[in-house]
Amino acid sequence: MVAHVESTYPKEGCGVMLGTEQLATQAVPLPNSYSGPQEDFFVLDPQDLARADGEARQAGLGIIGIFHSHPDCDAYFSKRDLEHSCPWYSYVVLSVKKGRFDHANSYRPDFDASAAPKEELIYG
Ligand SMILES: [Zn+2]
Repeated sequence: MVAHVESTYPKEGCGVMLGTEQLATQAVPLPNSYSGPQEDFFVLDPQDLARADGEARQAGLGIIGIFHSHPDCDAYFSKRDLEHSCPWYSYVVLSVKKGRFDHANSYRPDFDASAAPKEELIYG
């Protein structure tokens, strides 16, 4: 995850987290298919998502979350992130400053996408 978002800097990098329940065991980098300036936003192609989901299921896992980076910004969940979120995923935002991973936070959007409270994120 960290290696991927450092490699896409200064653009936003993204991908999915595979695992079971609340435990992510694998990160799969996916292309950022946003057609605008990728320094500010990311979009996951539904076909990439579907393919990752199929591969996860074959391995007995599921997509539990989506990660993306904020180049030279803190790891907050933006209004735009919230508008494009799904309540059944956790969203990990990684702050990458000057090309290096700085910190990360995880958010879980409400079902009506009105807010995304921060959730506990344990990583090592
Ligand atoms: Zn964002």
